[in-house]
Amino acid sequence: MIANGLLRAVPNGRPAVGRREVDPARVEAGVREMLLGLGEDPDREGLLETPARVARAFAELTFGASELAEDHLSRVFAQDHAGDDVVMLKGIRFVSLCEHHLLPFTGVAHVAYLPSHGRVAGLSKLARTVDVFARRLQMQERLTAEIANAMQEHLDPRGVAVVVEAEHSCLRLRGARKEDAHMVTTAFRGALEGDRGLRAEVLSLMGVGAMR
Ligand SMILES: [Zn+2]
Repeated sequence: MIANGLLRAVPNGRPAVGRREVDPARVEAGVREMLLGLGEDPDREGLLETPARVARAFAELTFGASELAEDHLSRVFAQDHAGDDVVMLKGIRFVSLCEHHLLPFTGVAHVAYLPSHGRVAGLSKLARTVDVFARRLQMQERLTAEIANAMQEHLDPRGVAVVVEAEHSCLRLRGARKEDAHMVTTAFRGALEGDRGLRAEVLSLMGVGAMR
């Protein structure tokens, strides 16, 4: 069994969190315990299959933790007819899990980069990269930064912009109950970090700021 949070050295010497595997039996035991804690009878008919169902649901919601960005971004190809203009994928829908409450947060990610020397990745690879980081216990700010870092590392572009817009069910359903709260986070790397004009252009192409 692979230990959770196992550190692994990556080729450039920087430690990274490796692949994590789900142990369904442990999750099931935990859910059963939680039902008891909630004053329920886990052996009543409606709940008999619940621990196994919850374990399956959480395995699906966290499958990104068993993958690495390079699974999808390592195959970059050079496109000779491509210029070095911005490449953008807008409105990538995702579901993630708030690590503070284990409740989902959902939204869209917009990703853009400025290729160097025509080095590009397939658009579906960008969408899968979003899932690698979304499908795990997460915080929106870290999700945004991790997508940007992975693109910067594997595509070696001149610049990267990632914008994530999400609604958090932990905000909507409990505590402050801000039903329409909508959180926007951004991460810029390379040329898009320093050049305000370029950044504004990319954000306007993403439609950020125009949605509300
Ligand atoms: Zn939360």
